[in-house]
Amino acid sequence: MDPIKTEIVVLGAGPGGYAAAFYAADLGKKVLLIEQDKKLGGVCLNRGCIPSKALLYATGMLVQAKEGAHRGISFGEPKVELDKLRAWKNSIVEKLSGGVAFLAKKRGIQVLTGRGYFEGSQTLRVETAEGQQFVNFEKAIVAVGSSAALPKAFDLGNPRVMTSTEALEVEEIPEDLLVIGGGYIGMELGTVYSNLGSKVTVVEFMDTILAGADPDLARPVLKYAEKHFKELRFKTKVTQMSTKGKKIRVVTQGPDKVDKEEFFDRVLVSVGRVPRCQDLGLENTKVEQDEKGFIKVNDKQETADPAIMAIGDIAGGVLLAHKASKEARVAVETIVGENSTTSGVIIPAVVFTDPEVAWAGLTEAEAKAKNITVEVAKFPWGASGRALTYDRTDGLTKLIICPETERILGVGIVGHGAGELIAEAVVAIEMGATARDLAESVHPHPTLSETLMEAAEVFYGHPTHTMPTKKREE
Ligand code: NAD
Repeated sequence: MDPIKTEIVVLGAGPGGYAAAFYAADLGKKVLLIEQDKKLGGVCLNRGCIPSKALLYATGMLVQAKEGAHRGISFGEPKVELDKLRAWKNSIVEKLSGGVAFLAKKRGIQVLTGRGYFEGSQTLRVETAEGQQFVNFEKAIVAVGSSAALPKAFDLGNPRVMTSTEALEVEEIPEDLLVIGGGYIGMELGTVYSNLGSKVTVVEFMDTILAGADPDLARPVLKYAEKHFKELRFKTKVTQMSTKGKKIRVVTQGPDKVDKEEFFDRVLVSVGRVPRCQDLGLENTKVEQDEKGFIKVNDKQETADPAIMAIGDIAGGVLLAHKASKEARVAVETIVGENSTTSGVIIPAVVFTDPEVAWAGLTEAEAKAKNITVEVAKFPWGASGRALTYDRTDGLTKLIICPETERILGVGIVGHGAGELIAEAVVAIEMGATARDLAESVHPHPTLSETLMEAAEVFYGHPTHTMPTKKREE
């Protein structure tokens, strides 16, 4: 096979890689997109964000149905058909993945299925089903992502020990599920399995779930989990794990330092993700990596090799799909000569638990750690008409405000639909909005978005639906 010559090669077709390929093609570049999986879309689309949100939505209905009798509406015992649930989830994934392939084709992007390996700074060798294919390129964008960490001690070679990939296949509803790690994945998938009826136990190293979120935002999620999960244990580690017949034998040790032996039907390991940097041939380039293997980049997504850029999870930082997509834009703009940067860009975070937690910009904990003087204005959802109509008053909206300029530096929301609400906060922070901008912008009633406006009114000492907590001179 003759080598393929291209202007831009993108390695990896997740939300970073395909976004980069599409944008580069739209700007008139000749683009080759290389992906080892037959399906485009990466972890997010095939084995991450999308399937997990489908499962959270579908299984959340079980809880709604079970807990709605006091509203005068009750159902019979719900029936879960796992095959149908899985097929429905897979149909969404298929549709989206097919859509990505369609859009790539329409843009004239050549897609090559195979595993890429850098032979040099401007040459890739790709192992395809048809054999080796060499690629010569002017610029490469590495977007190969990350995979779930599975520490050796937990890797029993037993399919009952799952990472998120296997857990999303919902092969069965285990009676007893152990979740190791109370972060994004542990809490989201713990919720899916608890919704389905599993008795879920979470063990977490630290003294809280969702370590990146401010404690007041994590609290309603913790409350929900305490009610619906079997147990959450903090400052606890797993010291031994082995196969015992059809069960997994697990020994944990909590703050009391006493070993506790238990047996679980399945275990979900959700202790973080690792960069997919093995067998990439990076040693044949000038690309530099940090001690964990993430590729070092500057604010333009350039690596130490002038021909190679890196974006998304492989470039470190927060491992979020929308961060990858933003970095894709910056990388492509840099290649075409625009002065683009990721510096100062606000990357929101959303945890799709019940209730959802979302934040953007400065958190209260960060402000404290960095000694930044801020004022925090909170609006509790118990005072929101819309929250009451959803029967979900377990929410809070808070603004983190610079007392001098009144600019909004950060926003944190916990509550039903927080993941949708945070977008307004991102725009406000990006545009340098002040609390007054939010307070004086008319928000539709009755909506949860009013909680942002009312939190701003709390800052000025004159909220409508709650009592002022302070007097303020204006
Ligand atoms: P995480 O970093 O969110 O949480 C891992 C948790 O495991 C931490 O709280 C950590 O203290 C704990 N832990 C680590 N080792 C442990 C051990 N041996 N025993 C007990 N606890 C241990 O990681 P994750 O949940 O695996 O998710 C990985 C990444 O995927 C996240 O960083 C996130 O960026 C991304 N993700 C995002 C979303 C979303 O945007 N909604 C959803 C899922 C995953």
